[in-house]
Amino acid sequence: MSALPLVFDAPRRGKPPRHLADLDPAARRQAVVELGEQAFRGDQLARAYFGGSGLSAIPAARREALTTALLPELLTPVREVTCDDGATRKALWRAHDGVLLESVLMRYRADPEAERDDRTTVCISSQAGCGMACPFCATGQGGLTRNLSTAEIVHQVVAAQRSLDAGEVPGGPGRVGNVVFMGMGEPLANYSRVIAALRRLTDPQPHGLGLSQRHLTVSTVGLVPAMRRLAEEGLQVRLAVSLHAPDDALRDTLVPVNTRWPVREVLAAAWAYAGVTGRRVSIEYALISGVNDQPERADHLAALLAGRLVHVNLIPLNPTPGSAWDASSPAAQAEFVRRLRAKGVATTVRDTRGREIDGACGQLAALA
Ligand code: SAH
Repeated sequence: MSALPLVFDAPRRGKPPRHLADLDPAARRQAVVELGEQAFRGDQLARAYFGGSGLSAIPAARREALTTALLPELLTPVREVTCDDGATRKALWRAHDGVLLESVLMRYRADPEAERDDRTTVCISSQAGCGMACPFCATGQGGLTRNLSTAEIVHQVVAAQRSLDAGEVPGGPGRVGNVVFMGMGEPLANYSRVIAALRRLTDPQPHGLGLSQRHLTVSTVGLVPAMRRLAEEGLQVRLAVSLHAPDDALRDTLVPVNTRWPVREVLAAAWAYAGVTGRRVSIEYALISGVNDQPERADHLAALLAGRLVHVNLIPLNPTPGSAWDASSPAAQAEFVRRLRAKGVATTVRDTRGREIDGACGQLAALA
């Protein structure tokens, strides 16, 4: 570490400049009118931004004023690291005030035998840092720096789409298929900006990116009032709940916000979400050796979930630096899966994409 006072060590934390992706279509039109333009220029700018079509539809003389006002560069790429022969790419970004954040693109090639299409998932951040303090998560160790703006959230996906368009990802040009809010931050603690981002991502082009609501996943530690509010938004997004323990005594230590909203209340809100949306809820459970992977905890979890509209995603723990914890043994993991499935609970084990570039779940810490 350098002892020199670097400019980036003392960022001005603050509100990012306004960007087109912060605004809904009506507000965009109003913004261009305030700049002395005709309203339809708002749609042209949106088409240029979300569709990647460039600004050629806009007269050259008007471009600079419009882009300065509505398309400021929000995120500057600092570094990109790749693994899996380029199919997993972690991007480190610097925002206008110096804060750092990360996003990860994962491309899964078509596999005719598994009847799987080519698909690309982007894992994005909703906050710089995180205030939830889960002890096994790298982001949780540094605390919260600030909420990301709607446009800062959306731009992570737009940038991924641009790199797919440009053929930078092996497999040829492609489309972003899925977006998961599983990068840095607690999305439901940045509620209104995350909701606006969901709308920008799913609004049909030219107004948004035109992704399917069903292919977006919001992952939460279990902020119960916000979960209940989300159910009323009329969105078809998937909800993932980071449970990690079936009992309050253990969950209080793994997900500290459990002391405020215990397991029973979190699951009640999850079932309410499934009831309103008709969508299967994902339960995330990081398997930590000797901590939460005992057979009796598998049985307890299965009893809580059996018969519900639910799917369990087991995540082999990605150990963070300095932590004494490790992933479960293959035998313990297999037994945990077996006990859940024996009670009819749909269960899969998450692959560990990005592990070697510190880009897997819980590893995003934005160390420059
Ligand atoms: N704050 C949200 C979303 C971010 S993390 C949430 O907690 O759901 C996405 C998932 O990765 C969560 O389930 C989180 O608990 C899990 N995770 C965090 N650190 C991890 C680690 N070191 N190993 C495995 N999973 C981890």
